[in-house]
Amino acid sequence: MQTLMTNYTKNFSDEELTCKCGCGTMLCREEQQRLQIVRDCFGGPIYVARTISCPTHNKAIGGADGSAHLDKPDEDASGVDVGVKTFPTASHRAKLIRCALEAGYNCFGVGNTRFHMDARKLFWNLEGIRLLWAY
Ligand SMILES: [Zn+2]
Repeated sequence: MQTLMTNYTKNFSDEELTCKCGCGTMLCREEQQRLQIVRDCFGGPIYVARTISCPTHNKAIGGADGSAHLDKPDEDASGVDVGVKTFPTASHRAKLIRCALEAGYNCFGVGNTRFHMDARKLFWNLEGIRLLWAY
């Protein structure tokens, strides 16, 4: 049985917000809260496809050098790739983007079943979407 009381957020387990290699690197609390804001706004289940990676794991899975998934607290916030449980419709994606903007994310990658979002400090003094890519 999952021990929900130890998780920091209401809807995400600590485990799913931790690097998958077993090193224990976890998404910082500020970014966990940001993700929960999106979940509350979205109002339905979203799953975490990828979150923070340590440099070793990022390399092992073929992540980009300087990936937004690396833990870079002084530079950029760490990215999260999310999806919805059902096949995302165009309106699901649009709602996710609206919720993510509300939560302060400013960089997005759009895939068929996944959606990348990160909040880069570089853009924190600016409004709205700063980077948008497809994958
Ligand atoms: Zn790791």
